[in-house]
Amino acid sequence: MTSRDGFSWTPQEGLKPGVPSLGVIQPPTNITSTAKYDLIVVGAGYCGLTATRDATLAGLNVLLLEARDRIGGRSWSSNIGGYPFEMGGTWVHWHQPHVWREISRYGLSTALESSFDFSRGVNHFRLNSATSSTTRSHDDEDKLLASGLEKFVNVDGAHGRNIMPQPHDIFHNEQSRVFDSMSAQDRLDQIANDLTPDERTTVEAFVLLCSGGTLSNMSFLEFLHWWALCGFTYQGCLDMLITYKFRQGQSSFARHFFQEASKTGRLSYSFSTPLASIENSSTGVSVTTRAGATFTASRIICTVPLNVLGTIRFDPPLAKGKQEAIGIGHVNQCVKVHAEIKNKDMRSWSGITHPHNKLVYAIGDGTTPSGNTHIVCFGAAQNHIQAEEDIEQTINAVEALAPEMRDIQRLVFHNWAKDEFAKGAWFFSPPRLLADHLDDMRARHGNVLFANSDWAVGWRSFIDGAIEEGTRAAAEVVSELLNEPGVARPN
Ligand code: FAD
Repeated sequence: MTSRDGFSWTPQEGLKPGVPSLGVIQPPTNITSTAKYDLIVVGAGYCGLTATRDATLAGLNVLLLEARDRIGGRSWSSNIGGYPFEMGGTWVHWHQPHVWREISRYGLSTALESSFDFSRGVNHFRLNSATSSTTRSHDDEDKLLASGLEKFVNVDGAHGRNIMPQPHDIFHNEQSRVFDSMSAQDRLDQIANDLTPDERTTVEAFVLLCSGGTLSNMSFLEFLHWWALCGFTYQGCLDMLITYKFRQGQSSFARHFFQEASKTGRLSYSFSTPLASIENSSTGVSVTTRAGATFTASRIICTVPLNVLGTIRFDPPLAKGKQEAIGIGHVNQCVKVHAEIKNKDMRSWSGITHPHNKLVYAIGDGTTPSGNTHIVCFGAAQNHIQAEEDIEQTINAVEALAPEMRDIQRLVFHNWAKDEFAKGAWFFSPPRLLADHLDDMRARHGNVLFANSDWAVGWRSFIDGAIEEGTRAAAEVVSELLNEPGVARPN
């Protein structure tokens, strides 16, 4: 089935909105009554799907409301000719505890494959800086990035280990707060004399890949947090951030959660149903959709991302601290473009083109059923591009990555910046948002609980963080409602 989300472009058909996805749910609703629910979950990303599944399994009657026509939120795949192009969240790893529990629970440990395959023809790394273009081996690529990043994070003589000893508690060492006031640019300025020109180019490109923001608007502390989660090494970053993906695509994984919840018989749902307002009272909650329908429940788990929360009206209004956090928002405007190119030898290629190109970082990510190479390319808010607005410009940005990047057969992408239900890609904090407002983002509002990867404490910004948050919120609601006689119906 085809989702309204996403774009594809081919030389023959030009630009087309909407792409096929396993995540589209048909029929779009199964609601049969307007009786009061135990729980309403708003949003069917991984956080909402986890909360929905856990609550229905625990015996609660749950209504899941989702603005889009599909599950998965910011993690979904488009299945074109049987080949999955990941439009959002992609890579997972066994060092991500919450997502790995789910992979193991659904028997999917053998369903992953590596994005990297260094066995083909164009088996090298290309670095296009402002002043030079060179190719080098992948080993040299790793050495260059490792040495530059180690200088970048080495604020304590221990590559961040002393400052961020427990990445699930980022302010465990109080001194870490200083680094939340700094941007990546501030840190680069501090070490400007220590970096070689190539280290500088690759460090800038890599941190922009992580933040999707600009060097000046991304928190240096949040990068240290990622580094710590990845075991304080560049190799750890490669392994955990950008290597292992689902052979059948993210939407195949998300379907397991939805199907398990459906099988309980306690799941009502409605897709293409954006919420307009949430009203909290002493006896429960009611929500009103943009189309004017009203539903009531004992609790709500709202999984709407930080950058979108301001579009929902809350009565009574949200606490000041949460409103301030919403007003600040996160900075990630990542551009992710898939290019299918004819040269099959590009499978083993990787490259950085920075600071002059609109796509900064790219790797060979697979071979399509037609035998073409699939290259995945990333850009950021710095030098931002709206990929569908000027396809020639997007093609130029792909072609600028390497001389071999010719004969583009297809482009596939989703514009996260213009997506009204995301308003950006994964969470990446600007300076001071975490120190000032992490607790505010996590706080509940009466009978409304807020859960999203954007304010997870561990793998915040990742699928793992979404599952962490959905698990926490569902457990809280289940434990409260099981103590309210007549509300929950456990088996
Ligand atoms: P979301 O997925 O955003 O779910 C929130 C849901 O709420 C959405 O479905 C939305 O439609 C819905 N909603 C919003 N407004 C309303 C409304 N008014 N009414 C009803 N519903 C509404 N993570 C990784 O682990 N690995 C990666 O490789 C990775 N790469 C990424 C690449 C990109 C381009 C992007 C965008 C994200 C990536 N992420 C990655 C991050 C990951 O996708 C997210 O952190 C995670 O999917 C967030 O899940 P969530 O459920 O917390 O939020």
